[in-house]
Amino acid sequence: MTENAVKKVYRTTPEEVDKVRKWILTEDYKEKNFAREALVVNPAHACQPLGAEMVAHGFKDTLPFVHGSQGCASYFRSTFNRHFREPAPTVADAMTEDGAVFGGQNNLFEGLENAYTLYKPKMMAVFTTCMPEVIGDDLTAFIRNAKSAGHVPEDFPLPYANTPSFNGTHINGYDSMLKSILEYLTEGKKKDGAPKESLNLIPGFDGNTANYREYKRILEAFGIPYTLMADISDSFDSVCDGTYRLYPGGTPLEDAADSINAKATISLQKYSTIQTMRMVKDTFAGSAEVMPMPIGIKNTDAFLMKLSELFGKPIPEELKAERGRAVDAMTDGHQYVHGKKFAVYGDPDYLLGLVSFMLEMGMIPWHVLCSRSNRKFEKEMKALLETSEFGTGCNVWINRDLWHLHSLLATDPVDGIIGDTHGKYLARDHKIPLFRVGFPIIDRINLHRTPLIGYNGAVNLLSMIANKFLDIVDDTSDDQWFEMMR
Ligand code: SF4
Repeated sequence: MTENAVKKVYRTTPEEVDKVRKWILTEDYKEKNFAREALVVNPAHACQPLGAEMVAHGFKDTLPFVHGSQGCASYFRSTFNRHFREPAPTVADAMTEDGAVFGGQNNLFEGLENAYTLYKPKMMAVFTTCMPEVIGDDLTAFIRNAKSAGHVPEDFPLPYANTPSFNGTHINGYDSMLKSILEYLTEGKKKDGAPKESLNLIPGFDGNTANYREYKRILEAFGIPYTLMADISDSFDSVCDGTYRLYPGGTPLEDAADSINAKATISLQKYSTIQTMRMVKDTFAGSAEVMPMPIGIKNTDAFLMKLSELFGKPIPEELKAERGRAVDAMTDGHQYVHGKKFAVYGDPDYLLGLVSFMLEMGMIPWHVLCSRSNRKFEKEMKALLETSEFGTGCNVWINRDLWHLHSLLATDPVDGIIGDTHGKYLARDHKIPLFRVGFPIIDRINLHRTPLIGYNGAVNLLSMIANKFLDIVDDTSDDQWFEMMR
């Protein structure tokens, strides 16, 4: 030790580190870990305003407006930047200490006026972070005051949503913002007479831009006129041609306004559109349908048959052929995944879709974890597991985080993990592969450009999973088993 070296107050010996490393893999530690009440470690969800911002980016010429702290806004933006590798143009009124003491109305006034003048949006979607929610800012009054004081024109669309993050997750923020935008845009737009021959499709919170394109392709194959709500496919997967566009895509506002007259509205995510679909059911002219995400054959069949039934059109031949090819691919590939155990975590609707696909493939969703959900979801997931022998004995964990999952993987191991990037530490610690599905995926590129819904999505999911297991066999097999063909 040199003369100037800092003497550590407490030194952990390598033996002690090793002892703890082994201890956190035991049943004893798991028991203590599961007794945790006030602490969450590595949750598999984001906060409400992030979901609200995703919706705002999905409408044409719309500027997301964060009422609250600058740091929160940076977190949402940077998460979108990292996942999509695209800009996420958003403004924040940057409340600081004085806003926290006196309320954020002045911040909102100044922010709205500047954003309206500088960025020339056709709509601003306002949502809150924790700080204004904790101090009780009255967003309804603030927005009304901003208009009457002339900070934005009286007729300028300013839908808003309260999105407190200490309650719910990004899917609840998605729901609140979407409901608010649709309520605002459709007000007074209902026409007399029969609903028009078109469909409103709500994908729900989905960070996979290719899924949105796939929905559009399916509807176009059917020849069904549609409005895809909160369509982020171009907003977050825009062309690179040397011109920067502030608002590169999104659902046209006039189409969203006219959606109240459509023959039907289908939501493909039950849990992320609860309030929205309640509003649609109460106020829209057409029927309101809620279906599972079309991941895997069964759910895609149900989606296509619903479209066929609602619009009286036959299933297009090209989609029938895709189904046949998907079934063939699944038959060819099932031997590589059949009987393997998985841990899968994420949003409730994604989980229901993924588990349905896994059961079709004979994969065992041994640990299904949703880090913020309720008994209704737990019951629905258990009922789904009971439909297949591959669901027998599987475990559903709600309101548990990825550190709980660490204990589960140590004491009751599986062959692979399916979830977003946050699971990579688990994968490394337990030496099993992570199949990146969900949001955010910030350590791999372009995965959001590969669809996971529909028949093609089933082939993509299977290929990703089966080929990784084949890689592992090649990487680890002895010379005598190293084969050209698998
Ligand atoms: S949880 Fe609250 S404080 Fe944290 S980033 Fe989200 S809105 Fe901001």
